[in-house]
Amino acid sequence: MTASDSPRTRHIKELLRELHRHGVRDQRVLLAIAKVPRERFVPPELRERAWENRPLPIGAGQTISQPLIVGLMTQALQLDGDERVLEIGTGSGYQAAILAELAASVTSIERDPTLAHSAAERLRRLGYRNVEVHVGDGSKGWPAGAPYDRIIVTAAATRVPPALLEQLSPAEGARLVIPIGDSEHQQLYLFERRGGRLRRTDLGAVRFVPLVEGEASPGDGKEGDAPGSPPAP
Ligand code: SAH
Repeated sequence: MTASDSPRTRHIKELLRELHRHGVRDQRVLLAIAKVPRERFVPPELRERAWENRPLPIGAGQTISQPLIVGLMTQALQLDGDERVLEIGTGSGYQAAILAELAASVTSIERDPTLAHSAAERLRRLGYRNVEVHVGDGSKGWPAGAPYDRIIVTAAATRVPPALLEQLSPAEGARLVIPIGDSEHQQLYLFERRGGRLRRTDLGAVRFVPLVEGEASPGDGKEGDAPGSPPAP
């Protein structure tokens, strides 16, 4: 940190140090987090808090994940740059942007059409050409783009949706990261193809909004929940 750093630069550096302390050690992941302008993914009235290590509300009852969780999940995917990635739960599009920095292409599925459209527009304006956003039930994956080298689920499932395992590449080293549990207790799991088997690693306790299976219906996106409502305690 130098005296000439702007407040924004200071906040970014502080966040990177905090993520490093909590286990995000992959330099490429830290660089991607420094590069993607998180303030563009949160409601205007929360911009000043965009670089805090906290989840923030993005409207429709949904949240942009905490930077630490984005960092840990992205690091667990071990991206080299040539992977095709499937993300379930586009939300603000922030995680998709981080993935787009580190992989060849990203297919992201969002159940809520309003969120999907604003995320797609935001990513387009920021110049991400290697991300596709689709409206759909991500528990069914997105068969048209399968197989995927990596799959990341950013909403909590009660089990690994079978469609996602079918769409994960059979190749050695293919990886899936997913929070599993109920609304109170979830564990983040990494599944990795190793020697023809799926190896599971527990990455720790997390808290995500639920993965809602089935088609979206009008009104269940809690439209009245204005963007910028205070974060849940
Ligand atoms: N990755 C997001 C945060 C995810 S919040 C970001 O970086 O901002 C979880 C998102 O999953 C919400 O937007 C929610 O609408 C979506 N979601 C819930 N169930 C889903 C499903 N079955 N298919 C696709 N998206 C789903």
